[in-house]
Amino acid sequence: MSKIAWIGLGHMGVPMSHNMVKAGHTVRGYDISEAAREAARSNGVEVAESVADAVRDADAVFTMLQSAKVVEQVVSGVDGAFANMPKGTVVVDCSTIGIDTARTLANEAKKLGVGFVDAPVSGGVHGAEDGSLTLMLGGDIDHVAAIEPLIKSVGSYIVHVGPSGDGQAMKVVNNALMAVSMAAACEVSVLAQRLKLDPQVYFDIVTRSSGDSWVFRNWFPLPGVVANSPSSHGYEPGFMIDLIHKDLRLATATAAEFGVRLDTATAAAQLFADASAAGDGEKDCTGLVLSLGADAEKTTASV
Ligand code: NAD
Repeated sequence: MSKIAWIGLGHMGVPMSHNMVKAGHTVRGYDISEAAREAARSNGVEVAESVADAVRDADAVFTMLQSAKVVEQVVSGVDGAFANMPKGTVVVDCSTIGIDTARTLANEAKKLGVGFVDAPVSGGVHGAEDGSLTLMLGGDIDHVAAIEPLIKSVGSYIVHVGPSGDGQAMKVVNNALMAVSMAAACEVSVLAQRLKLDPQVYFDIVTRSSGDSWVFRNWFPLPGVVANSPSSHGYEPGFMIDLIHKDLRLATATAAEFGVRLDTATAAAQLFADASAAGDGEKDCTGLVLSLGADAEKTTASV
């Protein structure tokens, strides 16, 4: 069994690191938030004092952090993982950070004699809890082979997409589709509410009709219909509005670089930006219905 360092113990990091513990690995975790460290401790993770302390004798280092900026700081900063982990160790970054940052960090790793694999995930908090995430890997074949036995503890569909950055490229396109679907599901659900359609009947018909999607089925944005959807739990994340907006920014910036129109993603990004400006940035992305004018009286039910 291996010694794993896990940096970033948030909505995804806690259940993913817990699955590593359940698989028999020793996990030393670190997060800047005391509440996050406590949650990890109660899930069998040994809590470290700092990033350096967590990675010191690790066989592999996993990161699950909000953004490219945070990952750069944690991985390649002065007190970061690269500077403190043993030579030959691989950093597996499961965050969504975009293609360029992943390639820059992989190049830096090569110069330092360590490894970096981009390994963004899909499947949400429930996928993280039951170990059924999809992982999209970008990196050198040797590094991927070294970490593959470990990542089987957190995901059930694991694909080596190609060289460094290709995992992030796949994640950019997946999340552009997901986020546009989410924005559409929220807008149309507010309309359904205004038309006084029964939410359960609306859900049952759409999930058997051409309007169906993964997002609609799993993250239905009106409360009281889908037990596992954050909409049925007061719009607590889940996947925060600020993070889905970050992913849309990554998608639209990448599309602009390649001269591709992504007008639906641009419109969706504006809706999530408006929700964030209205103070809902830390709500789950299904909570977009609130700033779109969903009837508050009908958005409090839980299943
Ligand atoms: P989160 O905000 O819940 O967790 C991130 C954690 O990182 C927080 O606990 C935060 O305190 C910690 N952190 C911030 N700066 C740090 C630092 N310098 N050192 C150590 N810890 C630090 O976010 P999340 O929902 O777990 O998402 C993490 C990543 O996974 C994001 O890139 C997101 O886009 C991606 N993702 C999320 C989901 C989801 O459903 N939540 C699904 C797929 C991918």
